[in-house]
Amino acid sequence: MSIIREKKTMAKKILIIEDEPTLLDKLAEKLRGDGYVVSTAMDGEVAWEKVRSEKPDLVVLDIMLPNLDGLSLCRMIRNESSTAKIPIIIVTARNNEVDKIIGLESGADDYLVKPFGLGEFLARVRAVLRRPQGEDPLQQEEISSQDIRLNMTSRRLFKGDEEIKLSNKEFDLLAELMRNRNAVLSRDLILTKVWGYDYFVDKRTVDVHVRWLREKIEDDPSTPRRIVTVRGVGYRFEG
Ligand code: CA
Repeated sequence: MSIIREKKTMAKKILIIEDEPTLLDKLAEKLRGDGYVVSTAMDGEVAWEKVRSEKPDLVVLDIMLPNLDGLSLCRMIRNESSTAKIPIIIVTARNNEVDKIIGLESGADDYLVKPFGLGEFLARVRAVLRRPQGEDPLQQEEISSQDIRLNMTSRRLFKGDEEIKLSNKEFDLLAELMRNRNAVLSRDLILTKVWGYDYFVDKRTVDVHVRWLREKIEDDPSTPRRIVTVRGVGYRFEG
């Protein structure tokens, strides 16, 4: 018990991997100002050593790096058992890399496209660190956000005290979005996770199901605040 309590009050360690010195300094300064313990690396290979030796609570990872690129590094972190659960936020200079980041199961928890504001950066870092750690979200019995509760065992959805009936696919889609709250999921990734690899399903199927879900869970389905559209990419559950 005491170990757990101690761990909670300890400052979180964040490793920033970025080869642009100016940006690296800004990000590090912002995080230190918020009370995080920050270490840095400017090269992919050095970064990999640091991930394994320091076991940070979060990795901020640039894609274009000398020696070892960010996506490879991301996969390496996920593939080694001692580092597999470390949350990763990817930063990228190119919007067209976004599909690769979230679609090809790089394993990143969130991403930011440069240039981004430092306020936005800090908000994403806090959001990722707030997610339950070391706990497999697939094993959670109940996922909740504000007045919405999704019971994974009974497969029932409640909004406040009221039960909302969902079809199987609506339930699976909402569960997938809520498990990954505050992260963008591409239509491809949603199709793969909810409809399965083997299905040939039109991408618009996702849009249609999102529309149905919004009609059931949004206060005003015409201006959704829970399931938001990320243009050109996919959807994000705000929670
Ligand atoms: Ca770079």
